[in-house]
Amino acid sequence: MRSIYDLSLDDLKEYFISIGLKPFRATQVYEWLYRSHIRSFDEITNIKKEVINKLKEDFEIKLYDVVDHQISSDGTEKFLFRLTDGNLIESVLMRHNYGTSICVTSEVGCNMGCAFCASGMKKKLRNLTTGEMVLQLESVYESIQEKISHIVVMGIGEPFDNYDNVIKFLHVVNNPHGLEIGARHISVSTCGLVPMIYEYAKEELQSNLAISLHAPNNEIRDQIMPINKAYRIEELVKAISDYIDSTNRRVTIEYILIDGLNDTVKCANELANLLHGLNVYINLIPYNEVKEKPFKRSKKEQMRLFYDTLKKRSMNVTLRLEQGADIDAACGQLRSKHMNK
Ligand code: SF4
Repeated sequence: MRSIYDLSLDDLKEYFISIGLKPFRATQVYEWLYRSHIRSFDEITNIKKEVINKLKEDFEIKLYDVVDHQISSDGTEKFLFRLTDGNLIESVLMRHNYGTSICVTSEVGCNMGCAFCASGMKKKLRNLTTGEMVLQLESVYESIQEKISHIVVMGIGEPFDNYDNVIKFLHVVNNPHGLEIGARHISVSTCGLVPMIYEYAKEELQSNLAISLHAPNNEIRDQIMPINKAYRIEELVKAISDYIDSTNRRVTIEYILIDGLNDTVKCANELANLLHGLNVYINLIPYNEVKEKPFKRSKKEQMRLFYDTLKKRSMNVTLRLEQGADIDAACGQLRSKHMNK
């Protein structure tokens, strides 16, 4: 049966019109779903019983089964959910001083094959539907009962490889009758699917763009990110620059620091040269080691040196505090562990 969470407000309005009812009923249902977080259509009190029964015939309102739930001492929580077809996905909840964010998975597995990534070890089986992304938020909410203020689409999968469902998801969570998560509080991260960056720049929703760059040149990026064979770093930086020009929005650059590979002062200077003059914010992230991978986290003093070099070059940079270090924090790690059992 179709999940109610797959429907945008417009889809739901069309549905109500198709069954001979006024579209404002859709807004009522939407508010019940996302403001009251109902778990059964029977909880709706302002719509007639016959209509409720029709909704029950046509749609499902079921949350995910939680297969595993890890809580870190810093408040980060990792959820492993089972989809209706038995596949497993992860979502991560992070607590910050500015609110609570959730890292959403967009695909079952990932085909991008980044060498350092636990998610990429399992090939993509399929896209997630819009509803399956929304359900991650509702299922996490069910556990924490706290408002989720920010979303990063940065979990398992390459969001721009499932573009239409991801864009619809952004509209669902942003809707003022629904979860009402501000577009400025939503970020979508890509490993560098250049044509889709141009598409994303045309979207009316003002959500943010993050780029998983992780290298300052083609030589290093080729070693760890196969996407760089299709879209060279110069093309990617050009797309970032064009995106900034057309949207007037700042872009986040994600840069995982890996020992001896991309964390030298030379790399920091190259990175500064590459991004010079662009309205970007560089987010340095200590690498979360994955047992099956040869990469090691950069040493603390090296991370500090890298950060200081970028600062000296007047780059806008932060060294992200690691979160969830005492749980299976690397993206895809928890899923992979359960699948290997
Ligand atoms: S880092 Fe992202 S794009 Fe790369 S393999 Fe992992 S999930 Fe896929």
